[in-house]
Amino acid sequence: MSYMSELDREMRQFDDMIRKARLKYGDKEQMLKAVEEMSELTVELMNWVLNDGNPKVHLDLFKRIIDEIADVQIMMAQMGAIFGDEYVAARRVEKIERFALMLLK
Ligand SMILES: [Mg+2]
Repeated sequence: MSYMSELDREMRQFDDMIRKARLKYGDKEQMLKAVEEMSELTVELMNWVLNDGNPKVHLDLFKRIIDEIADVQIMMAQMGAIFGDEYVAARRVEKIERFALMLLK
């Protein structure tokens, strides 16, 4: 199987998983889960900042941050499905363009 068809299959599986999660848990529950995951990432990022310079805690913290980023990305995919991926994509383009202009200043 080619890399692209494998990637395409994985993306379809992911979309299917998101659709099933919406049906199983409902949108409100998914929004609360998104808030929970964002809070967990917030805690770990604050831990990273507050423990900066302490190598003993960094590997463990690094793994927890990667974990929480993955959780948040999954929940953002859920939020995109609920609120409209097309609106998010359009707004992201506008924000990236504005950000690119800011970087030129
Ligand atoms: Mg989590």
